[in-house]
Amino acid sequence: MSHNACFVAQEATPELLRIVTVCGECYNEIRQGDTVYYDMEHYRYLCACCKEKLCAVMDEETCEIVAEEEAPSLFC
Ligand SMILES: [Zn+2]
Repeated sequence: MSHNACFVAQEATPELLRIVTVCGECYNEIRQGDTVYYDMEHYRYLCACCKEKLCAVMDEETCEIVAEEEAPSLFC
């Protein structure tokens, strides 16, 4: 798992699940105890899979998508 300053890892607590119940990118269900990642650039929560995929095409300094080519599939 790569560290990326653009995301904040959080455990999905019952309190968090009142705010968000699905990943903001793939809409997979978030379950209690999962690790989710808050995307500070887009104000949404992502599952670990989507966070990893975004990290691969993101400039960590600016938190912007920098990949020139068509974005890879974000389906997890
Ligand atoms: Zn996802």
